[in-house]
Amino acid sequence: MIAPASAPDRATRQKPFTIAICGGGIAGLALAIGLLRHGVPFHLYESAHAFAEVGAGVGFGPNALRAMSLIDPRVREGYSKRATGNAHGDKRRVYFDFLAGMDCGVGKAGKKVATVWAGDVGNSTVHRAQFLDELVALVPGENVTFGKRVVEVEELEGRVRLHFADGGTAEASAAVGCDGVKSKLRHVVLGSDDGAAHPTFTGKYAYRGLIPMEKAVDLLGDELARNSIMWLGNHGHVLTFPIEQGATMNVVAIHTKRDGTWHDERWVFPVDRAQMQADFYAWGDSVSKILSLMQHPDLWALFDYPPAPTYCRGRTCLTGDAAHASTPHQGAGAGMALEDAFLLSSLLGAVRESSEIESAFCAFDKVRRPRTQRLVRTSREAGELYDLEAVGVRDDRGRLEADLGSRFGWIWEESLEGELVEALGLLGGRARLV
Ligand SMILES: Cc1cc2nc3c(=O)[nH]c(=O)nc-3n(C[C@H](O)[C@H](O)[C@H](O)COP(=O)(O)OP(=O)(O)OC[C@H]3O[C@@H](n4cnc5c(N)ncnc54)[C@H](O)[C@@H]3O)c2cc1C
Repeated sequence: MIAPASAPDRATRQKPFTIAICGGGIAGLALAIGLLRHGVPFHLYESAHAFAEVGAGVGFGPNALRAMSLIDPRVREGYSKRATGNAHGDKRRVYFDFLAGMDCGVGKAGKKVATVWAGDVGNSTVHRAQFLDELVALVPGENVTFGKRVVEVEELEGRVRLHFADGGTAEASAAVGCDGVKSKLRHVVLGSDDGAAHPTFTGKYAYRGLIPMEKAVDLLGDELARNSIMWLGNHGHVLTFPIEQGATMNVVAIHTKRDGTWHDERWVFPVDRAQMQADFYAWGDSVSKILSLMQHPDLWALFDYPPAPTYCRGRTCLTGDAAHASTPHQGAGAGMALEDAFLLSSLLGAVRESSEIESAFCAFDKVRRPRTQRLVRTSREAGELYDLEAVGVRDDRGRLEADLGSRFGWIWEESLEGELVEALGLLGGRARLV
């Protein structure tokens, strides 16, 4: 078991080095909280003028909830205050009920295809902006500078110099790129000539929007509105789950782009409902009702990163989407960012001096890369499965059900403490284990 650092430890055991965190989304903030707990001085540089998250829901599996507790129990407590789960009937432990969203190879519209359970947790969900507020509350304001877009990281003798878009610079012992799917630090680590430095369009896009729960219940009934449901169909799927303590239904409607390419320089923009409804015109009654209620839908082009040969170079390391941006089809990208934050902050907490940081980054890379890249790969597969494009599954309900039943266990059941033991072993066995 890993000994949590107590509050007095934090004040008295400051490390003789400092970390520059580049980007303040879930990955960057969670890392900041972990570093605080381990007495590692840091400064976070965020390109925007304030912390911000999209007005949408996010779901977390049991692994992500454990990562929150391990980063700092206050993360889990803050999350729990805002979290929602399936609320109707006996669905508390259900991850998703999968139903046919149209008449298709796996059944008539409305037919149950499969149910996937997720231990005690079910589908634990939250409004992204509310979760971000809880994270922000744990990070001291003096450790953050806004309006600082990192454009380059220069490696100097024993330290790094960040260059910002506004012409300014800052120095630190090392830099961690938490700058998302358009990461600049990924270019620093891999080099811009490496194809893996560039995100790839995955051939699918998502419409996202929210619906007031009373309206959803009026049209769909309690069971379909208040629980997590995935509607499957030809070349698309629609998922809904409750957030904001059941006051709101979150909707994500995914569709395959017919030509498989993306040319618009925008990846996220508002769309009118008619466009969305045209994509789903052949779908059943329930999906049509859901789309008719979606408020202010946005379209998100779904990009992911090709497998990187490494997540670190010298004194620069990548975490979160900057390292392994994934499609959302297994609902685990942000959860992986939380796992990253636990492991990297613990490793840096075990480092005694600046010269050991590169070894900590290497240990992080070695332990985290296989798991997170497996997520990217299997997540794409899941999209093809839900959209009935996977060979042999599109008209075989039994095979689809079997695949769904075995798809999530490795994500949810990971031993995060085991990862830390392995990584500390690589670092030279300096563990604070009891
Ligand atoms: C439709 C959809 C649904 C999803 N649903 C789920 C889900 O249910 N469960 C789940 O676990 N995951 C989900 N994900 C994935 C999840 O959203 C991401 O994995 C997660 O938000 C990544 O967080 P991040 O902090 O790494 O990156 P980001 O959230 O992209 O944050 C990056 C931050 O860095 C800043 N920044 C960018 N460039 C720079 C720079 N050069 N210098 C300084 N700052 C910079 C940005 O302003 C931003 O604040 C979903 C994704 C999508 C698209």
